[in-house]
Amino acid sequence: MNSVQRANRDLMRGINRSLILNIIKTHEPISRADIAHLTGLSPATVTSITGLLIEEDLIFEKATGDSSGGRPPILLALNPQGGFVIGIKLMETSAVAALTDLYATVIEKTTVELPNKELDSVIERLVFLVENLMRNNKIPRKKLFGVGIGLAGVIDSVNGVLRKSPFFGWKDVPLGDLLLKNLKVPIFLDNDVNTLTLGEKWLDSKVHAENYIVVTVGRGIGMGIVINGQIYRGKGGGAGEFGHFVIDPEGPLCNCGKHGCLESYLGDQALLERARSEVNPAINSMDDLIQFANNEDKSALRIFHWAGRLLGREVANLINLFNPELIIVSGEGVHMGEPFFSAMQKAIKENAVPELKTDTEIRIKKWGDDVWARGAASLVISELFKSPIQKEV
Ligand SMILES: [Zn+2]
Repeated sequence: MNSVQRANRDLMRGINRSLILNIIKTHEPISRADIAHLTGLSPATVTSITGLLIEEDLIFEKATGDSSGGRPPILLALNPQGGFVIGIKLMETSAVAALTDLYATVIEKTTVELPNKELDSVIERLVFLVENLMRNNKIPRKKLFGVGIGLAGVIDSVNGVLRKSPFFGWKDVPLGDLLLKNLKVPIFLDNDVNTLTLGEKWLDSKVHAENYIVVTVGRGIGMGIVINGQIYRGKGGGAGEFGHFVIDPEGPLCNCGKHGCLESYLGDQALLERARSEVNPAINSMDDLIQFANNEDKSALRIFHWAGRLLGREVANLINLFNPELIIVSGEGVHMGEPFFSAMQKAIKENAVPELKTDTEIRIKKWGDDVWARGAASLVISELFKSPIQKEV
């Protein structure tokens, strides 16, 4: 066999391996015969590849299925404890990390404060976080499949380079390589909204859509785009700057330096400033404002209605642009609740092209603390299931 034939054989084996892993993930528990049937691979190939996957501890023989007469088939399932990953959400002043199994079920979650924004000290804290989680849970390095990191900014996820970080003021920092040198495990880096978007596919069995969008509302306004099952990142990793859609060029100054971006109206700080002047000057946090709205304060409700309408109008523009199957609205801002969402839904109906709006399901995602870190963990898990061809893209 020459080197080209060998490379082709290895590539085919890699493709078949990922095909089988994905079939098991979707249909588990499943027999070898059914895997062969669904993939179109020969029973011998299925037996050989599943044998290797069992050896690697990634799948196991779970149970015996029903049979019509003969010997009942043995069923295969994923082994969630066959490997572990760590997901980190890196924020301005702290980092949250979660050690998870291969279903992204959290085993331990921990937070560290960042003493400052110096690169060396942030790296040192991240290394401490990862090593602590491994030590506490007795995870050997070879069982840690990787560390996924989600953070705000423009990120070249292919090369693990943080091109621009609004929080740290860093530019073109090879964060992936720097962490790899310290931790000696694969490091995956992506924009935090992309990790969340990917997480929806991997963590939520209800998300089967191949074309969907995640919009996050909170401190900033973010967006992740999945087209044909893959995250769309654009040329340099910067796609999805939904928060910087210019609503009014004469509007308030935005963090990005422009005026009147969506975020300069809908980000937490903008809403709080407005609430202090229109509701109560003592309002300090979104929780305070939500409390006023829950107590039927008319001015607080008016702000939520207005904000919901504004977001709805722009989400309608996304529907007109992408014709997605599903839009998930997520982020800390979902706590604004019904007054915000009813106004948003109404504005979507009023502004989306009639023929398109019925194609799109709008889903409001319940928000929890570990969502970001689990999303970052799914960045690593999704690599495990990728075919070698997808990895090269
Ligand atoms: Zn902006």
